[in-house]
Amino acid sequence: MMRQAHENRMLAATTKNGQTIEIAANIGGPDDLEEVLANGADGIGLFRTEFLFMDRSTAPTEDEQYEVYRRVAEAMAGKRVVIRTLDAGADKKVSYLHFDDEENPFLGVRGLRYTLKHQELFQTQLKAVLRAAQYGKISLMFPMVTNVADVEAAIEAVDEARRTLTDEGQAYGSVELGAMIEVPAAALITDLLAEKLDFVSVGTNDLIQYTTASDRMNPAVTAWYEPGHPGLWRLLEQVSQGAHQHGAWVGMCGELAGTLEFVPRLVELGFDELSMSPKRIGLVKTAIRNL
Ligand code: PEP
Ligand code: MG
Repeated sequence: MMRQAHENRMLAATTKNGQTIEIAANIGGPDDLEEVLANGADGIGLFRTEFLFMDRSTAPTEDEQYEVYRRVAEAMAGKRVVIRTLDAGADKKVSYLHFDDEENPFLGVRGLRYTLKHQELFQTQLKAVLRAAQYGKISLMFPMVTNVADVEAAIEAVDEARRTLTDEGQAYGSVELGAMIEVPAAALITDLLAEKLDFVSVGTNDLIQYTTASDRMNPAVTAWYEPGHPGLWRLLEQVSQGAHQHGAWVGMCGELAGTLEFVPRLVELGFDELSMSPKRIGLVKTAIRNL
């Protein structure tokens, strides 16, 4: 199995009846690129940009972020790079940013909810991504989307970043726009979200926690944090159907995407892309090629 995985990692994940699934990698920054390329990723399905904001005393500037995003886009040489906007909150703190104390941070101002409230921070990142998009195939993805208004506000913020760049005389490239599906209510209205977007990608780490009401960090409730829960799979079916109904592609970037036991079901549900830790790519490609 391991040898086969090593041999298959550079090949396409195509089933015996000709369905091809894009197998992408999750990264935290450019340091991961070597491993991504060595493992044959078809693209980057999740760039967790919060790591650029951690272990420092001020936020990275637009130019600093632009250099990093450009480097990643160039290294991937035309393969898709999905950049997720800052996903911080009282559950995932950045030392120099202010977070109100919350009794339930996982149900609080996190992900897109936070960046919509801190437009300066958001605009700086959006401008950096748009500028970097001249050098590769970049997609912008918003975490913790809950409703249509969130998507509209995110799109408006991107429009504003484009207007500012134009006013400043700075060039930028085109990007695909997508939402993470991490909240059950969002999963149930994927069709309405996909109408306004190019893609959605399921964050199962959070979607499982919110669907089963089981804290992903609490070992005492792991028995209820159930990736095989039929309730989760009903949601996943709706996500895939809802996205495709409007011509959006559907991916998955939570842990579940790289779990061999569930890969055949994800292929059957029509997922177009699965993004995972680079080490899992050969194994998942092998499993799909044998389907
Ligand atoms: C997820 O929730 O599945 C996800 C990919 O995002 P994170 O693990 O960074 O919250
Ligand atoms: Mg998440």
